[in-house]
Amino acid sequence: MTSVTRSHLADGREIIYFDAAPGRTADVPDTRDLPQRDLGPEGSGEVRYDALSGEWVAVAAHRQTRTHLPPAHECPICPSTPERATEIPAEDYEVVAFENRFPSLGPVVGDIPSSPGWGTLAPASGRCEVVTFTPEHSGSFAELPWERARTVVEAWSHRTRELSALSGVRQVFPFENRGADIGVTLHHPHGQIYAYPYVTPRAEAMARTAVEYRSGRSDGETLLEGVVRRERGDGSRMVLEGEHFSAYVPFAARWPLELHLAPHRHVPDFAALTGAEKDELTTLYLDLLGRIDGLYDTPTPYIAAWHQAPLLRGYREAMGFHLQLTSPRRAADKLKYLAGSEAAMGAFINDVTPESVAARLRDSVSPYRSTDPAAPVAPLLVPSASPEGARS
Ligand SMILES: [Zn+2]
Repeated sequence: MTSVTRSHLADGREIIYFDAAPGRTADVPDTRDLPQRDLGPEGSGEVRYDALSGEWVAVAAHRQTRTHLPPAHECPICPSTPERATEIPAEDYEVVAFENRFPSLGPVVGDIPSSPGWGTLAPASGRCEVVTFTPEHSGSFAELPWERARTVVEAWSHRTRELSALSGVRQVFPFENRGADIGVTLHHPHGQIYAYPYVTPRAEAMARTAVEYRSGRSDGETLLEGVVRRERGDGSRMVLEGEHFSAYVPFAARWPLELHLAPHRHVPDFAALTGAEKDELTTLYLDLLGRIDGLYDTPTPYIAAWHQAPLLRGYREAMGFHLQLTSPRRAADKLKYLAGSEAAMGAFINDVTPESVAARLRDSVSPYRSTDPAAPVAPLLVPSASPEGARS
């Protein structure tokens, strides 16, 4: 059972400690002298409506002053010491979620205009949280012991449930940017959670497709269930197969390295997973991250995007929770940049076949460890690829 300890930072922001065992983290007061936050509309950035695309854009000019790649001794998310108070008052912790001091969304909450047009702007309501995975400044998620990674999964579930209940929130998105190459501003292993006041463009497109698929089925199968069923049947892009989840390179991968991890039943978000599913998810995710770091001699930058169904009727039943992990790395020393077709048109061109990437990931060996004795989930099946050219 994960123990949850709630507290507040000196400026009023919420901080929540997650521990595998009760009593590890003490509720230590934040001794810093921070100005109180402006919780009114003036204290937030803004969202502006792009009338041409029908999409919202968050304008967060105040974020320019945020911390950028500080040295370890100035890290704001290391535990506090008697000499130095950080964002996390405790002198030790396991996993912590807290409100971002420089949020793109929030601290104001509530609805944004429902019938926007050219010139519509509104306070950027919502919430941005930081989730620290470990008190250790260096390392990565892939190197976490199983029990710690399981606590992170529990934290993602807890935060999804609570952020989904905030006024005006339409979508909750946990993610991790890993590596300075994709814009990480802190080396300390951490991720973020955005609670948006609107449905993001990509989630909107995926949710609509999912609604259309489900309405055309008499058996109630969701789109993601159908995709997972077909990928498992085909086998040529499969990487790992468990009892509750499967991992595969998607049929139409956009990125040189792209990996999806999806449950075998319809689940809208982290909060709807069972304990056994979270256990297996932890095991598979650590395994996959290890395989990714086994591909090259140096750590591979990635974006781990946990897609969850938007908080709108119809979307919850149709769009399935899953991970889309992508990396722009296409060789040991080469990154793919989003150029004309991708950046301007959203039309991706991938230089490698998804089947060849899946084969590399199946053969990849994690540089970290083979098995963690604390992991309760048995080693997973790596399916053998089906004959070349097989299609379902
Ligand atoms: Zn640190």
